[in-house]
Amino acid sequence: MNLPPTGRTTEDLLAEVARLKEHDLPVRGGQVTAYVYDTGRAEVNDAATAAYLEMLEVNCLDPTAFPSVVEMERQVVGAVADQLGGGHGIFTSGGTESIMLAVKAARDSSRRARPNLVLPVTAHPAFHKAAHYLGVEVVAVPVDLATYRVRAKDVAAAVDADTILVVASAPSYPQGVIDPIEEVAAVAAAAGLPFHVDACVGGWLLPWLRAAGAEIPPFDLSVPGVTSISCDLHKFGYAPKGASVVLFADPAMRRKAYFASAGWPGYTIINATVQSSRSAGPLGGAWATLQALGREGYTELGRATLEATTRLREGIAAIPGLRVLGEPESSLVAFEGVDVDVFVLADEARARGWFLQPQLSYAGIPANLHITVTGVTLGGVDSMLKVIAESASAARSRGPVVLPDGLVDLVAGLDLDALDDAAFADLAASVGVDLRPGAGQPEMAVVNTVLDALPAAGREAVLVRFLSVIYGS
Ligand SMILES: *Cc1c(COP(=O)(O)O)cnc(C)c1O
Repeated sequence: MNLPPTGRTTEDLLAEVARLKEHDLPVRGGQVTAYVYDTGRAEVNDAATAAYLEMLEVNCLDPTAFPSVVEMERQVVGAVADQLGGGHGIFTSGGTESIMLAVKAARDSSRRARPNLVLPVTAHPAFHKAAHYLGVEVVAVPVDLATYRVRAKDVAAAVDADTILVVASAPSYPQGVIDPIEEVAAVAAAAGLPFHVDACVGGWLLPWLRAAGAEIPPFDLSVPGVTSISCDLHKFGYAPKGASVVLFADPAMRRKAYFASAGWPGYTIINATVQSSRSAGPLGGAWATLQALGREGYTELGRATLEATTRLREGIAAIPGLRVLGEPESSLVAFEGVDVDVFVLADEARARGWFLQPQLSYAGIPANLHITVTGVTLGGVDSMLKVIAESASAARSRGPVVLPDGLVDLVAGLDLDALDDAAFADLAASVGVDLRPGAGQPEMAVVNTVLDALPAAGREAVLVRFLSVIYGS
């Protein structure tokens, strides 16, 4: 029985929530180097939580009914615009939604029968998702395999008569490097095309790293030719999840992101975002986080983040067998194993209480581990380096994952649609992965090695099936 016959007390419910969260990764403290962003300042979380709860039941659906939403959004968007070269913004639920709206605005500003968008292979999958939802094709451009940055001339060569939008990242997530924004902007401008800079992860990080002394090239709406930019506040803004801003240089372009409908006999619909009814909680949380930290708070966090990143990069470079990929300007650091299996290394680190994010090989870029350095990292950077060094040497002793003969061919050749969930679970069990509820965290090295050996379409098919199996019927 999922629904109890009679209501339960709050105390009882909270006890169950605590039990449900028992095997979650910790969201604070810095030992989880992906997914969560921690200032290390409890008072900031407290302010955000209080404002979030205060706004929780306010509905962003109708700004005339709840003018607090308009005022708060104007303040939040205004703060982001002040940092990123101006523009006209929308507060969204996250990077994916910001990107969705930027792609929709570009699509609806042009009239092409088979629209495409041109992006580097390192651009975030949110663009593939937006393209998929909006009926746009993706033209992916390889990056320079020494710097991991796209080359403007390759972008120029990929643009054609059906292109509706050019995309580059500041920085790209996988290696934390900034694409040559000014050069790509010039290419887009020369072709008369809009150019979106994905600064989802960097938009609220790079300005503060720059203030702390890092060399950050121009990347925002102040660069001629940049027509829109996305900036997630639920990353380096340190706001609770559900907070991002997309800015358009031209207010007419922002209107192309909006959606209105009077095509029914009910209430009129005018939405700035994909969602319609929507809690103002995340807006309140983002607003309070910005206000609680202020310019001084973000500058201090930027300084700590920059110092931690420098120490981490130098520390990893000094560990035998590991190599940092590229020269990231941001605080995202990826490293490969020269004679160490990084997937085994990640499992070893996990056993020591640290989560490092595995990234599969793609488009000539080797498999690697990714670390997002945040404000809280500095205090634990020596412990992190010690764990990485120990885990690397443990992984070297264990040796790389060796898959059973023929396994990859078997998985690659499977017709996953013809397989039922139980057969898929059996297949997973054959490589030691127990997908049954409550089985806990498997050793991921084998899974990652299988995925790494598959082409992208095969990886996607396995991932979709995995999700449907864990959610059950
Ligand atoms: C995180 C991220 C996104 C997507 O953001 P979500 O908030 O997870 O939807 C897009 N682009 C980049 C570069 C990112 O780092």
